[in-house]
Amino acid sequence: MNTDAVVIGGGVSGLAAAYDLKRRGHEVLVLERQAQIGGNAVSETLGGFLMEHGPSTMNAHIPAAGKASTDLGLDDQRCDLGSGVRHRYLVDDGTLAAIPVGPFGLMTAKYLSPIAKIRLLADLLLPHRSDGEDESVMAFCSRRFGREVAERVIDPLVAGIYAGRAADLSVLAIFPKLVALEKKYGSVTLGMIHRRREGGKMPGTRLFSWRGGISTLPSAMARNLGDAIRTGVVVRKISRRADGFHIDVGDAGAVNAKVVIVATQPHVAARLIADVDPAGARAAEQIYAPPLAVVFLGFHREQVAHPLDGLGFLTSESENRNVVGAQFCSTMFPNRAPRDHVAVSAYIGGARSPDIARLPAPDLVNLARGEFHDLIGAVGEPTVARVRHWPLGLPQYGMGHPALVKDLTTTADRLSGLYLTGNYLAGPSVATCLEVAQETALAADGYLKQEKESSPTTIAGLGHLRV
Ligand SMILES: Cc1cc2nc3c(=O)[nH]c(=O)nc-3n(C[C@H](O)[C@H](O)[C@H](O)COP(=O)(O)OP(=O)(O)OC[C@H]3O[C@@H](n4cnc5c(N)ncnc54)[C@H](O)[C@@H]3O)c2cc1C
Repeated sequence: MNTDAVVIGGGVSGLAAAYDLKRRGHEVLVLERQAQIGGNAVSETLGGFLMEHGPSTMNAHIPAAGKASTDLGLDDQRCDLGSGVRHRYLVDDGTLAAIPVGPFGLMTAKYLSPIAKIRLLADLLLPHRSDGEDESVMAFCSRRFGREVAERVIDPLVAGIYAGRAADLSVLAIFPKLVALEKKYGSVTLGMIHRRREGGKMPGTRLFSWRGGISTLPSAMARNLGDAIRTGVVVRKISRRADGFHIDVGDAGAVNAKVVIVATQPHVAARLIADVDPAGARAAEQIYAPPLAVVFLGFHREQVAHPLDGLGFLTSESENRNVVGAQFCSTMFPNRAPRDHVAVSAYIGGARSPDIARLPAPDLVNLARGEFHDLIGAVGEPTVARVRHWPLGLPQYGMGHPALVKDLTTTADRLSGLYLTGNYLAGPSVATCLEVAQETALAADGYLKQEKESSPTTIAGLGHLRV
């Protein structure tokens, strides 16, 4: 019934925090509401297709991604993007425009007008802002790179990563490095050139996965945690005790712990900490996470006219399409579809059209089939069709988000031993979740060590938790 640390939520963030604490020698217990661990990271195999219902790629540019693969002994299962990925596609007036993969792809592609390309270069000369005030991603990028680039390149990119709208999201929260470059060098482009010359790393993406899909990662962490994970357990309430926290898990009993790490979606975190940290709860409940749906379709190769020689495609809002973007899954990584078949996924909803994401599965399949028919020439019945609804898809880093993050990352200053971790603090990518979870675990480790030094009583086992 007593333990050092309870982690609420067995998604990537919770598992990573627990794994790290365990490696540091602490007794830890993960409580996960679902029957399966992994949270958003769900891979499923059906009829020879490997589907990713949530994340599909890891960003190797973030060191925590590769390190997790190595530490967990997963490098021999790792797979990099397939050689068939030659383009990124953007939807241009109802057709796919190929943007070559590479730094000058946009400048050589016909997707942007000549005026937009010239306007992009004006970033080198324009006066800069250095007042530190937040502005939307759309406002910042329009000011620096021109409206056409902001609407037709940045907005689809932001939709692809955050399922959000560039006009609603905070540039300080999403692209802090671009703001810093403008401030320091007067121009983002000039800043990038300087950083390159100085050998500094620029934000980038290099994508990888594992043969069994992204769920390989949470599964490996869970194997390592063994019986320190309880699934099918809904945490209802956290309350304060003289020596830590009391975690109420309804019929399953209760646990006492010196440390609580809340690794759930922000709205759940808000509810769970409402009594113990009202300031943190107020900040967490302000983070909007619109619904998102993923439609996976498998086809016989002959049913799809397009070569699918890319990552997939993204759409700008002005295209008025039902899909935010799509991935060419069987091109991205090997063994995602049976021989002579291809696999594609459509992402529907997010902040652009939350209501569409709530449609029943058959309607979403029809909608995705229509889009794939128009854009990649997919005809006939798919071999497999699967829909995953995410009622709270991805947290939106809206205007004012950096101020909320201040309140969310200082819970332990207001109440010793209480920590939040998750995809709403420093970025939604799995790799960033790993980084943030490890920082959280490090802080919790410091606190636990300090507590153990001041009260060296033995901690009882977990035997009384009836789950
Ligand atoms: C469709 C989609 C595609 C994505 N694509 C990518 C991608 O390609 N690359 C990438 O890097 N990232 C991607 N992401 C983002 C990334 O997957 C997520 O940000 C990340 O997995 C979130 O992990 P998490 O552990 O913070 O949260 P979650 O995965 O949401 O986990 C939270 C956990 O808390 C549990 N929980 C909630 N309430 C309770 C309670 N009361 N008691 C106990 N447990 C509770 C939940 O059941 C859940 O398991 C994608 C996300 C989605 C939805």
